[in-house]
Amino acid sequence: MKICLIKASAPSYFKDYKKARGGPPQSIFSAAAATPRHFQLEMHDETIRMVDPRKVTADLVVLFFATPDANRGYELASAFSEKGSQVVIGGLHATFMPDEASEYADAVMTGECENVWDELLQDAQNRDLKPRYTGTYADMSKLNPYPRHLITAEQYNWEWSVLVSRGCKHNCSFCIIPGMLGKTRYRPIPDIINEISEMETDWVELHADHLTEDRDYALELFKALEPLKIRWAGETTIRIADDPELLEAAARSGAKYLLIGIETPSKAALKRAGKGFVKPENLKSQISNIHAHGIIVDTTAIFGFDEHTPEIFIETAKFYHEIGVDITAPAIAIPFPGSRFYKQLEQEDRLLSDNWGEYDGAHAVYQPKNMSCEELEAGAEEFSQHFYSVSRSASRKLRQIKDFGLATTLQIS
Ligand code: SF4
Repeated sequence: MKICLIKASAPSYFKDYKKARGGPPQSIFSAAAATPRHFQLEMHDETIRMVDPRKVTADLVVLFFATPDANRGYELASAFSEKGSQVVIGGLHATFMPDEASEYADAVMTGECENVWDELLQDAQNRDLKPRYTGTYADMSKLNPYPRHLITAEQYNWEWSVLVSRGCKHNCSFCIIPGMLGKTRYRPIPDIINEISEMETDWVELHADHLTEDRDYALELFKALEPLKIRWAGETTIRIADDPELLEAAARSGAKYLLIGIETPSKAALKRAGKGFVKPENLKSQISNIHAHGIIVDTTAIFGFDEHTPEIFIETAKFYHEIGVDITAPAIAIPFPGSRFYKQLEQEDRLLSDNWGEYDGAHAVYQPKNMSCEELEAGAEEFSQHFYSVSRSASRKLRQIKDFGLATTLQIS
């Protein structure tokens, strides 16, 4: 049986954001890692190249996508169904909108794939798919390494991704990780080290939704990474900056880039979103601690919280510059189905669009509380103009040359 795994992705602001920050996507690589070798396997990641269904033939096509890519995912599902392939839809959007997804596919797979994958493949081989496969949390000690031959590291600019953990203990209102992956579960450190040792690149994304949530595990992981002499990127919270031992261990093990959710300077918005642990008044010294270890800080600037007024855009641009954020991109809060934010807007009857393609971080798809949709969309643009103004960019570059050296600074866009 020939299986084709596709990460569907339509051209959008969301896609550009993901592409700029992403290595291999977890969805198709996790499914590929779980697939027994006797099956013929093909993989496509539309984040890097679009698929032409006329040129792909497979007995089973499994599509994964997040909400902003749902229209594209359904388009591909219909095209492959017409060609006679069995079609399964899985991933983030399908997990929270399974009835909708089932209109376009023979079967819908919700949650993590590993515990239902063998059954699903067996049923597909018998051309007897069930309408629904309900994935449960995988045993992290039983995961195989991601295959590296179907899509290579070169296609991700030599960045590779190694899974460290799934889940997060926090429950931020706009995030779907808690709903999808639950509390944090870790892979055994030797499995991670073995996987990295076999890679053909030294630039790794240590994939975790909250890399340093378990301090002891993180310290052990960083210690084990040291001899490998890699450079790595990861996602964590600002709390790492308050822990000199952890920060030092991260830097020694090759940390070069941290994605840290700061989101907004509005204390009230942070508190209501469940991110009260981000204290705006401490961020300048916290980011300075991270910079002192040669680590770049990237964060999103989310707009459209109920506490935001039209002044928030310039305020955020000035604040982010002042506290030393190196890289950022503005995003209008996306009400992902499955998030608390989506539920709130639905209950308050404030959702304005059912076109998933507009849930991309560039469109106001809900009625903001203290401004118009037009102000929200224009304001995100205004933020970029201020944060990336000639004078602010120049002064930031000078500071970065001091913190990271010229070569690294030139790579930061
Ligand atoms: S935004 Fe980050 S900290 Fe908050 S729940 Fe999601 S993964 Fe956890």
